[in-house]
Amino acid sequence: MDRHQSALALVLADQPELPVHCLRPEAAKKAADFFVRRFPGDVLYAVKANPHPVIIDAVYAAGVRSFDVASLPEIELVAGRCPDARLAFMHPVKSRHAIRKAYFDYGVRVFVLDSLDELDKIIKETNGAKDLHLIVRIAVSSDYAQHKLNGKFGAAGHEAVLLLRQARSACEELGVSFHVGSQCMRPEAYRAAMEIVSDLIRQAQVTVDIVDVGGGFPVAYPQLTPPPLTSFIDEIAAAFESMPVLENADLWCEPGRALCAEAGSHVVRVELRKGDALYLNDGAYGALFDAAHDGLIYPARLLRAKKGPRRQLKPFRLYGPTCDSIDSINGPFMLPSDVHEGDYIEFGQTGAYGAALATRFNGFGDYIEAIVDDAPMMSVFGETVEAENVVALRAAKA
Ligand SMILES: *Cc1c(COP(=O)(O)O)cnc(C)c1O
Repeated sequence: MDRHQSALALVLADQPELPVHCLRPEAAKKAADFFVRRFPGDVLYAVKANPHPVIIDAVYAAGVRSFDVASLPEIELVAGRCPDARLAFMHPVKSRHAIRKAYFDYGVRVFVLDSLDELDKIIKETNGAKDLHLIVRIAVSSDYAQHKLNGKFGAAGHEAVLLLRQARSACEELGVSFHVGSQCMRPEAYRAAMEIVSDLIRQAQVTVDIVDVGGGFPVAYPQLTPPPLTSFIDEIAAAFESMPVLENADLWCEPGRALCAEAGSHVVRVELRKGDALYLNDGAYGALFDAAHDGLIYPARLLRAKKGPRRQLKPFRLYGPTCDSIDSINGPFMLPSDVHEGDYIEFGQTGAYGAALATRFNGFGDYIEAIVDDAPMMSVFGETVEAENVVALRAAKA
């Protein structure tokens, strides 16, 4: 894969005809390293956020050895690159074929479920295996998350209690999991979820070996500054310590967005300008899906070589390349007032749920990939490291 000093250097060298998915493996490594060092338990990378091999390798290099996978292709991908990885099949609805192949061909032992019928499927397709680690997905609130994930998966109330008991009798290790929603802005969301889980465990009167707090850890976007990640980790650690129902349970988390958002950016070209509207070569059906549909505003900058007079910034509306009118991104995006056809724009923080969501609708959605070595446009991990450096400097001087 091509490697460039920066996204700007890439544009100057290549004038790319297609959009470019820029990968910053160092940023993924830094984020994964933060979680591995700070999280008081096991860190599973949620592969769906960005399944690119460069990202898988980067989080592996930082010490992540467990992966949250949701399909056979994700299992094949990770097993092929990281033979010693532990794979956790965290989709509550799996085909019988996928369960069988995961267990017998790929050695998967961790399976999530949220219904008695799925439990039955897992037991049958593994021929009544005695070494299963079964994780019961519990329904919790998504109130503090930017991207809600409730309503589709998760057992609640009496049904969850029954499921915990049934699963306990069919496995070697029993776990519970939940997902507070993606880009969760409040640490208390995890505590509230852990209280619901504790209550269900108490009612079920089972021993639980694994508490998996899922993903949802936030990164920074313009106009959306989350509390520091350490406050999430502290809240989870404290809530875990005070779960009265546990004796020797392991703690897991499954970050997706937080490990890879900063590790990707997306470079697009302006194909036409009409007033304050820019028509781009990627958009809502491509790597900018979440910018159009998820209400997230992405950082954007113009990639231009010459340092002419500093232009005033102006708000722009953006349109993607397909013929559908929902292929538009409101923003507003503040860009130099003289932006014109042929300019390149870089969107930051697209490493998570960016290229991973691109479709081929209308013949678009094809893109180039390159590794770039400049810093991400925004970084919570960069700041954290900096702050630590400052503290260390001060200590050295004192
Ligand atoms: C998507 C997903 C994750 C990752 O969520 P993020 O919000 O990206 O951290 C983790 N666990 C499960 C089960 C998921 O579906």
